[in-house]
Amino acid sequence: MPEAFLLTLGCPKNEADSDSFAGCLKKAGWQITRDILDADLLLINTCAFIKPAVDESLEAMDQAIAWKHKKQSRVLILAGCLPGRYPDDGSGGLEDFDLITGPGDTSRLEEYLSIKTAEGPEPAEGRITRYLKISEGCSNNCAFCTIPIIRGARKDRSPEEILRDAKDLAEQGAAEIGIVGQDTAIWKSSSGGISWLLSQLAAAYPEIWFRLYYIHPSHYPADFLTLLEKHENIMPYIDMPIQHVSDRILKRMGRPYTGDYIRELFDEFENSKRRISVRITLITGYPGETEVDFTRMEKFVTQYRCIRTIAAFPYWPEEGTIEFARQSTEEIPGESAVQSRLMRIGEAAEEHNVFWAEMLEGEIMEVLADTPLLGHSRLDAPSVDGACCFDRIVEPGNIFSCRITGGTTGSDLSAEVLQ
Ligand code: SF4
Repeated sequence: MPEAFLLTLGCPKNEADSDSFAGCLKKAGWQITRDILDADLLLINTCAFIKPAVDESLEAMDQAIAWKHKKQSRVLILAGCLPGRYPDDGSGGLEDFDLITGPGDTSRLEEYLSIKTAEGPEPAEGRITRYLKISEGCSNNCAFCTIPIIRGARKDRSPEEILRDAKDLAEQGAAEIGIVGQDTAIWKSSSGGISWLLSQLAAAYPEIWFRLYYIHPSHYPADFLTLLEKHENIMPYIDMPIQHVSDRILKRMGRPYTGDYIRELFDEFENSKRRISVRITLITGYPGETEVDFTRMEKFVTQYRCIRTIAAFPYWPEEGTIEFARQSTEEIPGESAVQSRLMRIGEAAEEHNVFWAEMLEGEIMEVLADTPLLGHSRLDAPSVDGACCFDRIVEPGNIFSCRITGGTTGSDLSAEVLQ
């Protein structure tokens, strides 16, 4: 049986897309391999939302072309956000690719493979966390963002489709399901919104951990904390890309909320009955960001202890975005100012790591083993947040009761396995 290797770059949404691509390949008689050297076909599922992601994708493409040239008859497929953002204009350079298809677009792959696949995610052997996509695209049009250009306007999937995929993932042995979309909290159906959907999933599969990703602050569901109190298997985790807290920068970003609104939400998180772990995303160096704006953000991140993880990015002027078209004459913070601001955020993040490690030390928590030596607790998402480092080898895919014995590097924790 010919073998295919999938390389997934970028976010968990791409992982969900890769599962669909893998499904097409399997249907057409390809076996998925974990070793690229064994592969006869390589599919690169790219990311392209900011320049560093584009650069990483381009580098992977160069390596893939070199891989293809090493053996005749190897097949190379380019998929995902890079061709979504920069469609082939015929100017050359992509001749080595046998097929180019956009983000999550399985129809071209099916056509290429001459098959029609059944709907639904393909079993991904040994994968403990799976991702369930509830929508595609985004209609928020934040001024800095390329996603609406790459993935188009938001289209929610129906509850029937989502629940059917959740059933497949549960039957395939998923221990955790991450709910993904560009803006998950805005998802709606005639039966209800995201809280309704989460409660359906949590009640149907009480053994599975559900984690909601990418909560746009404007669409944060007012009943979310109540939902967390009702369902132990919905992770007490809030992944909120707030981006900034200065009103003038938020306005310029096209984010329809204020710093005060964010502070009110975070006050709620801190006062929640169930302990909440918050992951935030920030942009610094945005056009017009002054030291005063930045200091406001720095003060905010040091103030709220519920913040467990901070992902801070410098602003990238991306062609095609609203901000790029403004051709701003307003002062863009210089490289050294941006780097020093990122460092200051990094220092605040380190303080949070120390705070959380001290707070959790001695606590007994459930940890889902991702590998024989590493796992993650309810408070942290796998791959992107802090891991728990076990003191002995365990069986991946199982949940272990562990005593937290302290912090290690960054937000990682050491964990003594009790059972
Ligand atoms: S909500 Fe997120 S994906 Fe949508 S436009 Fe804004 S930053 Fe981009």
